[in-house]
Amino acid sequence: MSKKEAEKLGIHEFDIILVSGDAYVDHPSFGTALIGRVLWDAGYTVGIIAQPDWKTGTDFTALGTPRLFFGISSGNVDSMVNNYTPNLKRRSDDVYSPGGIPKRPDRATIVYTDRLHALYPEVPIILGGIEASLRRFAHYDYWQDRVRQSILADAPADILVFGMGERQVREIAQRLDHGESVNHLHDIRGTTYKMEMLKWRTTPRENIVEIPSFSEVNKDTTAYARAFALHYGEQDPVRGRAVAQQHPKTVIIQNPPATPLTSTEIDCIYELPFSRRAHPTYCMSVPALEPVQFSITSHRGCFGACSFCALTHHQGQIVQSRSLESIVSEVEHMTRMPEFKGIVQDIGGPTANMYGLSCPQWAKRGTCRDKHCSSDCPNLSTSHFQQVELFDMLRKVPGVRKVFVSSGIRYDLVLADDAGYLKKLCEHHVSGHLKVAPEHIAPPVTACMNKPDGAVFEAFRRQFEALQQNKTNRQYLLPYFMSGHPGCRIPDMVDLALYIRDHNLYTEQVQDFTPTPMTISTCMYYTGLDPFTLQPVHVPKGREKKIQRAMLQYRDKKNRSLVAEGLGVAGRQDLIGSGKHCLIAAIPGKRTTAQRQDKGQR
Ligand code: SF4
Repeated sequence: MSKKEAEKLGIHEFDIILVSGDAYVDHPSFGTALIGRVLWDAGYTVGIIAQPDWKTGTDFTALGTPRLFFGISSGNVDSMVNNYTPNLKRRSDDVYSPGGIPKRPDRATIVYTDRLHALYPEVPIILGGIEASLRRFAHYDYWQDRVRQSILADAPADILVFGMGERQVREIAQRLDHGESVNHLHDIRGTTYKMEMLKWRTTPRENIVEIPSFSEVNKDTTAYARAFALHYGEQDPVRGRAVAQQHPKTVIIQNPPATPLTSTEIDCIYELPFSRRAHPTYCMSVPALEPVQFSITSHRGCFGACSFCALTHHQGQIVQSRSLESIVSEVEHMTRMPEFKGIVQDIGGPTANMYGLSCPQWAKRGTCRDKHCSSDCPNLSTSHFQQVELFDMLRKVPGVRKVFVSSGIRYDLVLADDAGYLKKLCEHHVSGHLKVAPEHIAPPVTACMNKPDGAVFEAFRRQFEALQQNKTNRQYLLPYFMSGHPGCRIPDMVDLALYIRDHNLYTEQVQDFTPTPMTISTCMYYTGLDPFTLQPVHVPKGREKKIQRAMLQYRDKKNRSLVAEGLGVAGRQDLIGSGKHCLIAAIPGKRTTAQRQDKGQR
């Protein structure tokens, strides 16, 4: 992090310098650490500039000129998502910063790139991380309420690495090291680059899918939806083709995604010697480290393809799992740390119970173009035996008292399991609450979200409750629900509120839909269209969105007037009054019978 530290290690010039909007935490959950360790392991010296002061050049010049390239990332999260609440209010803290003190500029990737390009115009600049990855094509930006160009058209960078970038950065480093010009590195999977318009006109395009241009998607929402569906269809590492999008001054070309890591490759990455600590120069702790310091990544990828999640565009749908032995060895290593108190905080990935699941088609022809993988597909292996085996092995590691699963689980897969996963989970791997994310129960909404419908969640809830019979320390489901998603109307929220009422569910974990870059849901939010059918989708906004949010927490007295308004809109005034079935009392400040009983029980 400083020249002094480098000199202690005998380094007088860095091969690569990584710049990040996050504090430097040497933990595999932090992207900069992961990429830095991979490059170091490949034999390159790597300097890190964490959270530079972008108003001056001082921090950017602190480590000198890198021999090969600068790598820039906004950090683990998109800087706009990180800096603003869903209501567009500026956040007062940043969990990726020491002491939670915000230090990240808005649009950090562009700001850092501008600064470095001005200081070092000759040095190649490579973008990476979630902000760059999910803004690689023209995209709707919620914070400006407009369509923005690809971030690569806005920032003076040479290459954008999308997805998990280990393969790509290693290849970029090696080829630059062998003397290739960055302008020739246009054939690397998992990268996006720019092409001059003149060259584009003479480029053969048989293997390139050209999507509607920035100018078209900027003025026509149907063109935007078509462009989205086209590039979404190519995000598969086996069958995906290159995608091009013209911008006013350049053409953005995305190569096919990087091929998935083998089990051995992913094991090697997570076995690199991470210290699992924040850099020792920080006087204050980095809040984001605490919940993950002793957690383990067991796999990458998620075939759930929830519409509001951009993971399909980042990690992809093909699940890449580590070996049992590698995970056990990582846990054994953790037990030797003095800070470890015997608790493994999480074993998981984007969806905890996809570890070890696979489809024989993935290797040969990738994921199906016309359908999503689900427990209904006979080709998908849904037995959780490997996960159960992993749990059994980890519980036996000396020094481990508890192994928790804190990542969300996909409950439709649990229903298709034959290895006793849920029983094992409840017996040993969850504390008081099991987190699940049905998000909604009304079929029109779950269809838009690409989530299993309410009947599937109900079947899971019953199975979970059956396991709680005769337990002295019973556990509870902690469902995550979402309001304001495209396709959701007020009567759907009434149905959800009634479901919450009937099953006395906790609703502390609620979320109002936020249109983050490059999700299917964001495309629906902006265009009012389903990108795959081009059929209109209802999009709640303004007051309706507020009412929907309030209905999720109808028990909260401050939401009463919004809930009453929503019940009026839905024609459900019968749910206002003192009756046991009522959601809110007729008179502000009073309680319904159910609320009185509920309060008495608590
Ligand atoms: S065959 Fe089924 S599990 Fe395999 S890729 Fe297609 S949808 Fe997914």
